[in-house]
Amino acid sequence: MVQILDGNRIRDEIKDECRPRVERLIARGRPPGLAVVLVGHDPASEIYVRSKVKTSHDLGIHGETITPPESITTQELLAIVEDLNRRPEIDGILVQMPLPPQVDSKRVLLAVSPDKDVDGFHPCNVGNLATGRPGPRSCTPAGIIELLKRYRIPIAGKRAVVVGRSDIVGKPMALMLLHENATVTICHSKTPDLPAVCREGEILVAAIGRAAMITADYIRPGATVIDVGMNRLNTRPEIERLFPASRPGAAEKLAAFDKKGTLLVGDVHPLDVIERAGAYTPVPGGVGPLTIAMLMVNTIESAERRTGVC
Ligand code: NAP
Repeated sequence: MVQILDGNRIRDEIKDECRPRVERLIARGRPPGLAVVLVGHDPASEIYVRSKVKTSHDLGIHGETITPPESITTQELLAIVEDLNRRPEIDGILVQMPLPPQVDSKRVLLAVSPDKDVDGFHPCNVGNLATGRPGPRSCTPAGIIELLKRYRIPIAGKRAVVVGRSDIVGKPMALMLLHENATVTICHSKTPDLPAVCREGEILVAAIGRAAMITADYIRPGATVIDVGMNRLNTRPEIERLFPASRPGAAEKLAAFDKKGTLLVGDVHPLDVIERAGAYTPVPGGVGPLTIAMLMVNTIESAERRTGVC
């Protein structure tokens, strides 16, 4: 029987562990503080930010959103970040990506104090991760490591294959698996014979951004498959191509699409993974919920470091 790795359950566990840590910080003087900078009105970004701030409020973390207009310049955004760097009650700063084209995103991310970089994107923290030093870790891969450990899926000595080499998921994921003593292969769009390389993976992580690209022939029988992808499909022919009516489970996918007019699909084919894997993260309800939970952990850890609690 294939095991479903339930990200919602692990998110709730992580959040429950956060509560007493927040209470201890409040008892010692103040709650942890998270500031999210949301430029303009990108609908997807607005949803993510609302959810981040709501989760922080649920846990008793001070969460605030700064919403400069779409027309902001790099200098103006740098001034906002500098102000947040100086404010003592702010422990975590998150600049929601993407930024408008006139803004130099790299300069802005570099301006966030590494001490308050709760996304773990600053080169100092990337260096800390690479060299095994403490510091905030990129939230999505950190959540995946938590999920694997809490489900007691062995990592040490295993062959792990990561598809995708982005700075926010693929690269830090590979480093974190390496620190857990997996033997790691990183793949990308130029990797020849990708299915054969993926089939070597006892742990396979897909962080690609292509709906259902990882089909049965990419999956080693019994592998643990982690699906990071979040791809929204909006047309019925796309759904019918991925889920032919003859396949068990296809009717449910079509019905879900017909109900909402859209379907969220990961990078892994959701019917194939059930047939081949030993364990897998569903989409939705797998990796997604862990990212915000780990953002909360990073914010609390930053507050603990900055107030001398740990
Ligand atoms: P990204 O920056 O676009 O990187 C995609 C990676 O996939 C690149 O390294 C690219 O290779 C590789 N790739 C693209 N097409 C490929 C192909 N045909 N064969 C092999 N490799 C291929 O994406 P990202 O930011 O890492 O995000 C990946 C996915 O995860 C997206 O669906 C995103 O929405 C999702 N995501 C989810 C969460 C969450 O919380 N659940 C968080 C972050 C991201 P090259 O480098 O060679 O171009």
